[in-house]
Amino acid sequence: MSIAQNIAEITAKIATDKVKLVAVTKNNDVPSMLEALAAGITAVGENRVQEMLAKHPMIQATGKSPEWHLIGHLQTNKVRQAVPVADLIHSVDSEHLAVEIDKVAAKLGKRQDILIQVNIADEESKFGTDSGQALPLAKIISQLEHIRLCGLMTIAPYSENPETVRPVFKELYQLYAELKNLNLANTDIQWLSMGMTNDYMVAIEEGANLVRIGTGIFGSRQ
Ligand SMILES: *Cc1c(COP(=O)(O)O)cnc(C)c1O
Repeated sequence: MSIAQNIAEITAKIATDKVKLVAVTKNNDVPSMLEALAAGITAVGENRVQEMLAKHPMIQATGKSPEWHLIGHLQTNKVRQAVPVADLIHSVDSEHLAVEIDKVAAKLGKRQDILIQVNIADEESKFGTDSGQALPLAKIISQLEHIRLCGLMTIAPYSENPETVRPVFKELYQLYAELKNLNLANTDIQWLSMGMTNDYMVAIEEGANLVRIGTGIFGSRQ
């Protein structure tokens, strides 16, 4: 199937405009990205800063201006390059990283939208805060003037059967609801980023409103 057909099928399955579809374009070339944008995609997700920076001017040159979501781990020494381009950073998992983002955003006169990445279940992943640390981190971040905390993100462990990871999504939804209830100043809690090609329908059933889909749109990555 073509990229446009894949997007049409996924959009039909999602069946609501309350869920935003982020097309994960890592390892896919600019012509493929343009196909996705022509088919209605409004947000693209990259997991590496270098790749985002390389593609951003090429896409801009075509007159398209999608939202750029940075979904992969962000090293402190890449923040300076990432902040000018990223509309939403999904992967903030420490105070140290948040403080650096705040500093760079301040210099640019920007308010950087971010999500806190939470590591609910995946013991193999080094990234993301423990669920117990997410709300304390949110409180600290809410004091940084050049950051706007917009919600939470998680990557569920891969499983052949997405039902297996439903409890992961339930737990992140719980945390998201608690975070909303805190009514922290300086935040705008509106995005729950969870669900990928293999498990996005289960994630949506559990409250996701931002899904990150790569192979389901572009086919398997090289
Ligand atoms: C690659 C990636 C995705 C997309 O994964 P697919 O299984 O190809 O849909 C989503 N989120 C993150 C953080 C990723 O790195």
